[in-house]
Amino acid sequence: MENMQSIAKILIFMAATVGVISVVIYIIGLFRQPEQEEKKEDMGMLREVSLRDQRIRELQSEVQRLNELNSRYLVFMLNIPTVVMHLNSTLDFDEIASTIIRLVRDIIATDTVELYIFDKEAELLKRVSPDGKVEENITYALGEGLIGRAGQHRMLRIRGRGDEGYSGKKGKDQAEPNIYMAAPIHFSNRLLGVIGAGEIRNPSGNEGSLLKMIADIAGVALFNQKFLSGAKKKAEVDPLTGLYNRRYFFHMVQKFVEKSILEDTPISIFLFDIDNFKHYNDTNGHAEGDKLLKELSELVAKFTRKTSVVARYGGEEFIVMLPEISKEEAFVYAERVREMIASHPFAHREKQPLGIVSISGGVASFPADGRSIHEVIQLADAALYQAKRDGRNRVIMHKPFMFSDVTSED
Ligand code: GH3
Ligand code: MG
Ligand code: MG
Repeated sequence: MENMQSIAKILIFMAATVGVISVVIYIIGLFRQPEQEEKKEDMGMLREVSLRDQRIRELQSEVQRLNELNSRYLVFMLNIPTVVMHLNSTLDFDEIASTIIRLVRDIIATDTVELYIFDKEAELLKRVSPDGKVEENITYALGEGLIGRAGQHRMLRIRGRGDEGYSGKKGKDQAEPNIYMAAPIHFSNRLLGVIGAGEIRNPSGNEGSLLKMIADIAGVALFNQKFLSGAKKKAEVDPLTGLYNRRYFFHMVQKFVEKSILEDTPISIFLFDIDNFKHYNDTNGHAEGDKLLKELSELVAKFTRKTSVVARYGGEEFIVMLPEISKEEAFVYAERVREMIASHPFAHREKQPLGIVSISGGVASFPADGRSIHEVIQLADAALYQAKRDGRNRVIMHKPFMFSDVTSED
């Protein structure tokens, strides 16, 4: 009995203890509850803040994108008058082509810009390199690819807008699959070329209109170039020999002298005259004389590097400007020209006083021999006449003491 009582006491004590602990835990729980809710609230806020941060970042990048577009457009707008003036004041195809490519690059954010020029005879669009050289082996026929279709339909074509297809390609390095947009360059009902642009980063949606606008600007410039350059060429080139005329020669000389002074490089002048040409005309007739002038000019032009300018200076007198060539090197070149002419089997050469067609020439250099290019030409002319006096079929290099010291010693 006593045992039972003590067990009951223990049980009651244990129950009471459990009760007290429960109450304590409950009370602690009561105090802890708001803390956890706070935590939940905190989490929610954190999520909201991070969402807001993300939105702000999105807006910032959108603002940045718009700013970039804006400054791109602004630079473009500010440059347009200068570029248009420049494009329309030059008749140099390379320069026009490279300016057009640069213009597209400046305004449209793309890695690929390609200019194609329409060759009417071949009926092909030929790619032009960024420095304005026509790449004959990269071509599209009208209707072929996005480029060809823009040319054929004379309309802006955009890949994915009824222009998925890429039909056929020629050449080994076709970039057509990279082309996303193509605008025809045309003027006065003539197709002149096509401009293509690749995938656009951050497009504004205006790229098509911008490409069309550049194509229109290009159209005027290329049309002028194509049809005015013929007239310009007539003004620069001697019709009989195909060489540059005297007027153009002096125009070029001016440019080369400026470069020579800036870069501290020489310009050499080789002046030469056909020996006994009057005799040639008198014995064979004027028409045969003309033929000789033509043939001799072609030989000299072929023999001379492209960086030099060969011109018909007078009736049967020619001048060659050799930029960045020293007088000694120019003399070597001049001697080779003289030898080449002396050994060439020109018609009627045997009837000439020397039994051959020959030239006499003089060489002088700027700035070593004279303060102006005109002075240098005069010295080359004096050397040429010395060569005539010395018996013809020779070239004399101007020497500073040639016409003063030597004559006074004689
Ligand atoms: P030299 O060896 O001293 O140079 O004698 P040359 O007979 O060549 O010199 P000259 O200046 O007396 O004669 C040049 C001739 O070139 C006279 C002119 O009729 C002729 N001539 C000039 N232009 C042309 C042309 O376009 N065609 C032809 N056929 N002859 C021309
Ligand atoms: Mg002569
Ligand atoms: Mg002469």
